[in-house]
Amino acid sequence: MVYDVLVIGSGGAGLSAALSAKSAGASVLVVSEGFPTRSQTCMAQGGINAALANEQEDSVALHIEDTLRSSKGLGSAIMIEKMCEGAIGALAWLNSIGVPFSRTDEGKIAQRRLGGTTSQRACYSQDYTGLKILHTLYDQCLKEEISFLNEHFLRSLEKDSALFLDIKSTETIQIKAKSIIMATGGYSAIYHGFTTNTNQSTGDGIAVAHRAGADVSNMEFVQFHPTGLRKSGVLISESARGAGGYLVNDKGERFVDELKARDVVSRAIWEEIENGNEVFLDIRHLGEAFIDENIPQERKLARLYEGVDPVTEKMPIAPVAHYSMGGIAVDESLMSTVSGLFAVGECSNARVHGANRLGGNSLLEIVAFGKMAGENAAKFAQNNTIMIDSQKVPSIEDIYSIENSVDFYEKREALGELFYKNAGIVRNEKSLNHLLETLEEMQKELPLMGIVDSSRCYNTNLVELLKFQNTLTLSIMIVQSALMRKESRGAHYREDFPDLDEAFEKDTIVGGLS
Ligand SMILES: Cc1cc2nc3c(=O)[nH]c(=O)nc-3n(C[C@H](O)[C@H](O)[C@H](O)COP(=O)(O)OP(=O)(O)OC[C@H]3O[C@@H](n4cnc5c(N)ncnc54)[C@H](O)[C@@H]3O)c2cc1C
Repeated sequence: MVYDVLVIGSGGAGLSAALSAKSAGASVLVVSEGFPTRSQTCMAQGGINAALANEQEDSVALHIEDTLRSSKGLGSAIMIEKMCEGAIGALAWLNSIGVPFSRTDEGKIAQRRLGGTTSQRACYSQDYTGLKILHTLYDQCLKEEISFLNEHFLRSLEKDSALFLDIKSTETIQIKAKSIIMATGGYSAIYHGFTTNTNQSTGDGIAVAHRAGADVSNMEFVQFHPTGLRKSGVLISESARGAGGYLVNDKGERFVDELKARDVVSRAIWEEIENGNEVFLDIRHLGEAFIDENIPQERKLARLYEGVDPVTEKMPIAPVAHYSMGGIAVDESLMSTVSGLFAVGECSNARVHGANRLGGNSLLEIVAFGKMAGENAAKFAQNNTIMIDSQKVPSIEDIYSIENSVDFYEKREALGELFYKNAGIVRNEKSLNHLLETLEEMQKELPLMGIVDSSRCYNTNLVELLKFQNTLTLSIMIVQSALMRKESRGAHYREDFPDLDEAFEKDTIVGGLS
């Protein structure tokens, strides 16, 4: 069978795209390496932005203004307007399909303020917003009888097909389609051990699209969230600060306006830590009743992963990699530089976040632009067929036959720490060059990195190696892009070039291969 629209990835972006492609009359298949309900989207806590003005004065114009300001010159006014103007419709749609949003006393959707914004704009479901959205979207997909193929790992795109590793059988499966939507999420897991993301977020779709000829842009822009729990990196949502939580050092002093944009707050915390101080998030004054009603998950996470109860104790925190602003470059229709290959969500750079994403705008992007990607891919498939000329990847049999003399798990750990220290919140030419040299060494060792598990069923060792190979590809792009950008802008802070330079008010493009 040839599908009209093949959606790769079943997070919020993939499911929104699948629903709109299906309602446009297209035949749709959604393929992902895991199960839809476990996609990374389910971890989103704080909320989804829309200028509903349910709690405080607000307007679409203000939402646009906040987003443009935060993008620091790298956002596209056209795309930001599309997203913010579409927000109210996107929320009405989510409400109509049954997302259980928290409510005000008058029964309106409740809204909270997140950092870098001028109003209480983030609509939420306690602090389980992503989970509730994702599960509701999946219910709708089942109702619309959309087809799913789970536990299939994308390896490459070739001609009019995508090739997947069937994780259960380890066989290679070919799926033909007239158009393809990449919705495979971001790449913050490269900062292994120093990230809020799961091991899933290795940016596989970006590496595959790049090998298939798609341009990739702004890879140096990785957002660091100010409040990861210190021991694990697990996120304590911005909603805790939005509700009035304080950031304090070990002398009990507040040292930054907690609701400034994430890049500013993360750098302030970084400086405290560099000066030998510990940093804590303190929400004790909010009281147990408020915490349990509005941010119950934060309390559970702090107890589980840090062993502290935020009702009575301060939470030790540190900034960690959270969101990747770079990705597959797309035009205003969300099509990449490869005709028929669309990209949406965290794997794409639709130029709505620029140098610094605002909290609540990613969930908005995946829903509003997810729907747009589905419509546009369905339209493309009416008269066209994708045709890709891609770089070849080694066969699965070749990978089984590699003699494993270098342990890639050790390299993955080392890479996470090296990235955090050398391409983290603060970077410079020396640290980036040091990282690049290490990456080049690792690249040379890649042919010696194999698997120890030779089984042919659910071989997670094999999948993790494939993901590590993609990690290495993207790592080099991130460091090269960070070296090219000799200025500081949003999340990219170069201590050797601490000022914004107008000459760099443009995207860093890594041209596609094929
Ligand atoms: C802890 C946390 C809290 C957050 N809170 C918020 C918030 O409150 N508000 C907000 O706006 N944003 C928030 N974000 C960001 C937001 O959740 C994500 O940016 C967004 O959900 C990404 O959605 P996506 O559909 O693009 O990707 P994902 O949800 O990551 O889905 C990617 C999909 O691609 C599949 N996939 C990946 N690689 C492959 C492969 N090789 N082969 C096949 N399938 C593959 C995965 O299995 C998955 O189904 C948060 C993020 C985190 C980590």
